[in-house]
Amino acid sequence: MADAGPRVIADPALFRAACDGARGAGLKIAFVPTMGALHEGHLALVDEARRRGDVVAVSIFVNPAQFGPKEDFDKYPRTLEADVAKLAARGVELVLAPEASSMYAPGHATAVRVEGLTRGLCGGKRPGHFEGVATIVLKLFNIVGPCTAVFGRKDYQQLKVIERMACDLDVPVTIIGHPTVREQGGLAMSSRNAYLSAAERDRALLLSAGLRAAHGMWARGERMIGALRRAVVASVDKAADSVDYVTAADPDTLAELLDSTVAEDRLLLAVAARVGKTRLIDNTVLGEDAPPGGEPA
Ligand code: AMP
Repeated sequence: MADAGPRVIADPALFRAACDGARGAGLKIAFVPTMGALHEGHLALVDEARRRGDVVAVSIFVNPAQFGPKEDFDKYPRTLEADVAKLAARGVELVLAPEASSMYAPGHATAVRVEGLTRGLCGGKRPGHFEGVATIVLKLFNIVGPCTAVFGRKDYQQLKVIERMACDLDVPVTIIGHPTVREQGGLAMSSRNAYLSAAERDRALLLSAGLRAAHGMWARGERMIGALRRAVVASVDKAADSVDYVTAADPDTLAELLDSTVAEDRLLLAVAARVGKTRLIDNTVLGEDAPPGGEPA
């Protein structure tokens, strides 16, 4: 039942007390960290959390530490009221919506750095980004306490970084990865899609179309990494005003794989490109994920 809606708490200490109280009453917490501007991709994570916990906790925090100086921190969409209404309709119990000043005390001087996994893909293009992500996620985990946390495979590198961090630092949180939720036609849902004009949105479809084409080749037996990657490049080049990367990588280590090599049973293909001024990312794991936007022709 969509009742009075979630308890929306700004103070991290109060949020911690609410989570401790729920756990003390024997309830399992399932947690979804977000930056808000919620869409059906986020809400699918919330539904997954609902299935895995007795109490669903969602954080909404646009984390300044994960944005570069030239990135879109200031214009990132902030829609708290609408977000809370969407979470109420999904039966969420607890929302943490803190101010930056209560997440980063004066003199904050600590960061979490995950080596290796953060070297390539977005890590190579957004210096400091994953340090900002790992640090805020560990802080959020410390506020929420032992729980199951759901992350989207849309941000595949982020998911791998958080899994590594939780494992390496003995964080008592079980990490779940959820498949990417897409618009009809295959475009990966993203809060940043709100920046796209109608024409740009049409062009943006070519990112997932390239990944879908690679799935078709994979299904027909293609395993040469160069051929698979070039199919994505061909489609992305038609869409994008600039391309950050189209990379083939090992889905577990994220090590980049050369075009001249042959894929084993799974292969990550990941894209980051600008359509207009909007930076979009997408990925798929051949041999594991369903083709974006349905079976390829
Ligand atoms: P964000 O608000 O962009 O930081 O995303 C919060 C969480 O939602 C992250 O775990 C994202 O990977 C996930 N997410 C965002 N978009 C999608 C999507 N289209 N499908 C699945 N998960 C998503």
